Amino acid sequence: MARTDLEQSPSIEDLELLAEISQMLTLLDRDRLLERVIELTVKAFGADKASLLLHPEHTDEWSHVFIKHTNGASDVQRYDEEQSLHFARRVLDRGLAGWVVANKQGTIVLDTEEDERWHTFPDSKSGARSALCVPFLYDDNVLGVLTLLHTEPFHFNDTHLRLITIIANQTTVAVRNAHLFNKMRHQQQQLEAILHGMPDLLLVLDDQGRLLLVNNAASRLLQSGTVVESVVGRELKEFLNHDSVLDVIHEIVDNPLQSGQTWSFETRSEQQRRDYLVTISVWENVVQDTGVAANPAGYVVVMRDITTLRDLNRFKDEMLQMASHDLRSPLALIVGYCSLIALEAPEGSLIHEYLDIIQRSTERMKGLLDDLLRVEQIRNSPLELNEQVDILELVNTVLNNMRPLVDSKRQHLEARLSLENAPGVAGNPVLIREAMENLVSNAVKYTPDGGKITVESYIQGKRLHFVVEDNGIGIPRQALPRLFESFYRVNQEGTENIEGRGLGLSLVKTIIDRHHGEVWVESEVGIGSRFGFWMPV
Ligand code: ADP
Repeated sequence: MARTDLEQSPSIEDLELLAEISQMLTLLDRDRLLERVIELTVKAFGADKASLLLHPEHTDEWSHVFIKHTNGASDVQRYDEEQSLHFARRVLDRGLAGWVVANKQGTIVLDTEEDERWHTFPDSKSGARSALCVPFLYDDNVLGVLTLLHTEPFHFNDTHLRLITIIANQTTVAVRNAHLFNKMRHQQQQLEAILHGMPDLLLVLDDQGRLLLVNNAASRLLQSGTVVESVVGRELKEFLNHDSVLDVIHEIVDNPLQSGQTWSFETRSEQQRRDYLVTISVWENVVQDTGVAANPAGYVVVMRDITTLRDLNRFKDEMLQMASHDLRSPLALIVGYCSLIALEAPEGSLIHEYLDIIQRSTERMKGLLDDLLRVEQIRNSPLELNEQVDILELVNTVLNNMRPLVDSKRQHLEARLSLENAPGVAGNPVLIREAMENLVSNAVKYTPDGGKITVESYIQGKRLHFVVEDNGIGIPRQALPRLFESFYRVNQEGTENIEGRGLGLSLVKTIIDRHHGEVWVESEVGIGSRFGFWMPV
């Protein structure tokens, strides 16, 4: 169908060519797309040869993609990288392609021997006498240059130029689409490799609790036995009997979280005998045009295996317990002998002053050891949990006990209690009160004078919730996972003069663990903290 005699207005054949080419434009393989477009153009325009220069994104260099000869569809000649660079530099520097790039428009060379824009290179074998050359323009940048050649002069005319300009414009859009598609696919593959390669377990759920993404590590948790099930698209609740951890996660995502909310807690998988630090955060769909976040679109759950860390921690606690036991006797001796020395020392001697300092220091040490042993005692001693605790009464006692402390810092204490007709909690009232008081006294301690503290307690499902919120100094994100360890204190500005031993939260966690509940914390530096726990009713 070689046509050298195109009329000036588009013919049916021109339109057919355009239609045929526009069908090509959905191809996402860039090289195949270009090859097909050029093949059709060469054939339709009766050219002897075509060549294409491309300006690949992210590089400053051009490359010469291929040369296509009319005689034979398989006759596509590709250059290796070095050759193509050499060729591209040469024609862009002195050849017609250089003129097209500089002027950003297509052109015809009617006779190569007459047109000074045409440069014949000494080693050229093309024997071209006429040429048609168009740029691929995108956003005023030249992405490519297509040149058609013919061995006869005056082969190309203005209709060819108009037609090939349309083709070039359309092809450019298609090349951009192919490029974007490939870029996205590449990024997706990269992301998948990262997600599947990481040792942390990752689950992404939609707002209905359906699994959207499960990495390899997490997928092992969802599988039962040796049967490999496909999990994506199914609901989390279908897998609850596979692992106790999933139960806990399901309960949280089943009660809609607020946007921007994050839950972080430690839990143990009884089936696998492993401990996990679980972080659940809300992800939301952002409406593109307005940038406004829509309702929560779902949840991202990350689980880190902290079994080794916990074992080490347990080991540390045991060592501490042993050391504290062993330290008590020598300490008692020091205190005893101090009293004896005091009896012997003459009135008004400096010795009394020195003994005073020793005595105060030993008292501080004794207090520390007592606290430590108390945590251990609660952790290890048998606990009677069959006493029915009246929660409303207990929380009111806590609030009353805490009032003087709150007033001493002129803070505002708000209580939001929904505990009327609350069922009793089976537990140890003294310990539960101690846990509650610890959270409130921490809120008072780490909130400046005049701050606000809110205590919330309510029953949801089969759980009693107790939450203390403050607008105090807050806690850096990286400190959150270690907060409940014994002796852990956050080293941050504003806490230098606040006394503490780093045992309060460890005690809270031990008490709540013993009541089969869980503690959690959310906090932001400069904004405040929310500490809370739940336990079964
Ligand atoms: P401490 O005796 O140091 O208060 P805790 O175990 O009670 O020991 O708390 C551990 C650390 O957690 C504290 O040193 C403090 O840095 C941080 N912390 C606890 N509660 C709060 C709170 N409400 N606001 C800010 N930081 C807190």
